[in-house]
Amino acid sequence: MNCSIPEETIEKVAAYHGHKCPGLAIGVRASELCLQKLGHNDQNALVAICETDMCGVDAISFLTGCTVGKGNLLFRDYGKMAFNFFKKETGECFRAVLNPDAYGRQGVEMVALMKKFLAGEANEDETRLNFQLRKQVEDNIYNQSLDELFKIEKPQISLPRDAKVLQSITCDECGESTMESRIRLFDGRKLCIPCFNKVEQKI
Ligand SMILES: [Zn+2]
Ligand SMILES: [Zn+2]
Repeated sequence: MNCSIPEETIEKVAAYHGHKCPGLAIGVRASELCLQKLGHNDQNALVAICETDMCGVDAISFLTGCTVGKGNLLFRDYGKMAFNFFKKETGECFRAVLNPDAYGRQGVEMVALMKKFLAGEANEDETRLNFQLRKQVEDNIYNQSLDELFKIEKPQISLPRDAKVLQSITCDECGESTMESRIRLFDGRKLCIPCFNKVEQKI
């Protein structure tokens, strides 16, 4: 294993996430990079912006201290295996993009089989092979050096402004209190997003 995160910590991450998978391994390695370059959120306030919403973000939550609830784990769901980390105090930051061949030689077969598996079309042998391949790909991700795994560059995304305390407005349709930045105007009425979507569909 080339990963500097101890095995027992990875077990805890897997327990938090619910299973072990290649995606979680990617998140562990991206977190490892963050800890090496910028440290942990407990030492210095960090912000993580993930360009995907896959399994790996649970590892980032667990290992870096950036969480959705604290508002310092954000998503720009571009569907890319790319992770941006910022140290707020110093402005240090980086974007780590997973190399396209990071899955190793089993990667192509795994992706093809996974499609079949998820479509419910894999037979027993293919199902077994699918799990073997996933385990091998997971191992490949842990066995590579961080340099091999990720391309490091400057983030293209800039750090969002600090969250302001926003006023709450009552939705004219459902009566629920809603943050003002999420209110939509329709026919002179102030509506929350679900209510707005409902009236908009009726047109
Ligand atoms: Zn997973
Ligand atoms: Zn409403």
